[in-house]
Amino acid sequence: MSGLVKHLSDHLIFHQTPFPILALDEHGVVVWCNEQANRYLTRRTESLIDSIYGGFNPEQLKASDYSWEAIFANDKLHRFEEMEIDLKDGIRLPVTVVAKSFEFEGTRYALCIFEIDSNGEPEAASIELEQLRSGLDATFMLSYYDENFTITYANSLFLSRSQWTPKRVLGKAFHQMFGSTSADVDQVNRIVNVLKEGTVWSGDIEKSTKNGESYWVELVAIPMQLPGNEKYYICIEKDVTDRKEAQRSLEEIAFIDPATGLANRHSLEQSVKETIASGQHFSFVYIDIDRFYTLRDVSNSETEQKLLQELTVRLKTYFPDTVITRAGLHEFALITPLSSWFIEGFSDYLKQHPIYIEGSAIPLTVSGAITRFPEDQQTFTHLMKASVATIKQIRERGGNAISGLSAEAHEELNRKTLIEERLTGALERNDLNVLYQPIVNLKSGDLERVEALVRWEDEVAGSIMPAELIPIAEETGLIHEIGQFVLKTVCKQLADWNSRGLDIDISINTSIREFRGKNMVDLLMQQCKAAGCNPSSLTIEINEKFAFEAEAEQDIVHQMKLLQQQGVRFALDDFGTGYASFRYLLLLPITSIKIDASIIQPLAHQEKMQKMVNGLIHFGKSLDFQVTAEGVETDEQLQLLTAMDCNTIQGFLSGRPMKAADLENWIQ
Ligand code: C2E
Ligand code: MG
Ligand code: MG
Repeated sequence: MSGLVKHLSDHLIFHQTPFPILALDEHGVVVWCNEQANRYLTRRTESLIDSIYGGFNPEQLKASDYSWEAIFANDKLHRFEEMEIDLKDGIRLPVTVVAKSFEFEGTRYALCIFEIDSNGEPEAASIELEQLRSGLDATFMLSYYDENFTITYANSLFLSRSQWTPKRVLGKAFHQMFGSTSADVDQVNRIVNVLKEGTVWSGDIEKSTKNGESYWVELVAIPMQLPGNEKYYICIEKDVTDRKEAQRSLEEIAFIDPATGLANRHSLEQSVKETIASGQHFSFVYIDIDRFYTLRDVSNSETEQKLLQELTVRLKTYFPDTVITRAGLHEFALITPLSSWFIEGFSDYLKQHPIYIEGSAIPLTVSGAITRFPEDQQTFTHLMKASVATIKQIRERGGNAISGLSAEAHEELNRKTLIEERLTGALERNDLNVLYQPIVNLKSGDLERVEALVRWEDEVAGSIMPAELIPIAEETGLIHEIGQFVLKTVCKQLADWNSRGLDIDISINTSIREFRGKNMVDLLMQQCKAAGCNPSSLTIEINEKFAFEAEAEQDIVHQMKLLQQQGVRFALDDFGTGYASFRYLLLLPITSIKIDASIIQPLAHQEKMQKMVNGLIHFGKSLDFQVTAEGVETDEQLQLLTAMDCNTIQGFLSGRPMKAADLENWIQ
């Protein structure tokens, strides 16, 4: 082979032609190429040598009148008109391929010349683009996204900064490269919207590595359009974390926000604490601009600054004797002695005094939270928490209002805060428990499996049931720790039962958040391995909300399928209470459905419910799902479900959630 390479390389003419030339063996493997081929045809990472066909599509060849074999049948020149080749990064070019076979040291090869069609020369624009790209590639983080904002390419600078591996990053969504707070999501949505409109977006933005570490980039995002109307997007980024950090520490020292001249968020905590210490009563007002990132006409840093400055003027005019700080990107915090009704009036004031940018009035509204000290909350942290909760509530009602929470809502919030505070400690101390509730086969009366349910008894917060615990854990992210705790406990329990000859399977409940940004497959397999239990003894229960959201997240579906390959089964929990989209029943690897207790409970008294449950059972069984009825409490329900030929039941009638030892007695 090296003789062949030398032979071809010695032909100076091959290097002087403007066209790419490849030599391929009979299997279509590239054994040699000229410099032009290297320049135009080399794929991003692969080497051209040893690759198959070197970029022109063998399917095309099959479909044409010519065949690959025909080239090798004789020494004639073959021309393949109207072919296409892929240049680097998805640029396609029309070419005519001229191919001729020849023999060298007893083996046949084909020499293929790619005549690039447009006026006999590679399109100048394509080449220029190509050269531009390789220049950018060496200096900037580059990533490409398809029409759906899924990553199709990331260069090595991008990969090393974001800590993604080339394999894993492909197919991830644009938004997965950023943080997951609602402000992050808003900002990413805004960029996406700008790009979809065909406009370039540029500015500084905070990103998040695969491991959740933050970094800042100067980003230029460019919408592109291929000839076939196909859209894609290119992001060019430069790391500016150092500059941002320097700026941040300067701001910290100066306590001043350069954009508005207001005190900045670093001074906020101190101001609030000083006011509290002075013994004054005040209202803490937190104001957040509604839909900031989708406001028309606010499409770049300049208009954004103008808007913030104009809003600052209005705040200063409306609120006398008030400490005003810029608390976030589009948030302001006020410490004011003014009364609630006056504060609420700021919404109307804004309406009467609109902000103009480039001659047009911006439809700007704000959502604001009023929290009184000391009546509502007594510390800076609690004032902030109450503000976040209030704004969330206002936003749920459509935004554009400033108000406070009711006394009960404050109480509820305080309990939530207490639970949050206690939960971290409880998890550290392994203070949580797992109970097991039997799921029983209706026909045989045998135990099908048990469902693991988390329990927590806290000495300060009292007894906290999952209905209260899980939503808080999801919000704070502690759901990961709870999930891992339950999984670990369950795996140990499985191994223990196994060692004592008890063959019991266990269902665990999961939240979709546990699958996001985590590798559940690795986590679960690690726990199984550590405990020495079999993953096929596990069923993961997901609810309809999970299923609905998972459907759109390839990565989660992929994780589920990998788990399924390891023998893990999936059950759809609380069936009939959620989105009732049957698509996901087919798309996700679900093997059983659990009809929710709220549908089973009225069974004995409502004929329509009976018809519906009967229908659901038959529907589920016809799709080969095992059907479980949840919340079975009475003999009447049991009889009806038996008559309907339901597979399994779960409920207080057959057994309440109980400790592992009690379950062993229950089985006897
Ligand atoms: P689920 O998965 O539908 O679990 C069944 C719930 O119904 C359990 O409530 C169980 O105690 C209750 N239940 C069982 N039989 C009856 C009955 O006959 N009548 C009535 N009224 N209730 C019955 P629990 O333990 O309070 O859990 C509530 C929900 O919290 C669970 O609903 C599940 O979605 C979630 N959950 C529980 N543990 C975990 C966990 O470890 N992780 C996650 N992510 N969620 C969990
Ligand atoms: Mg469940
Ligand atoms: Mg359920």
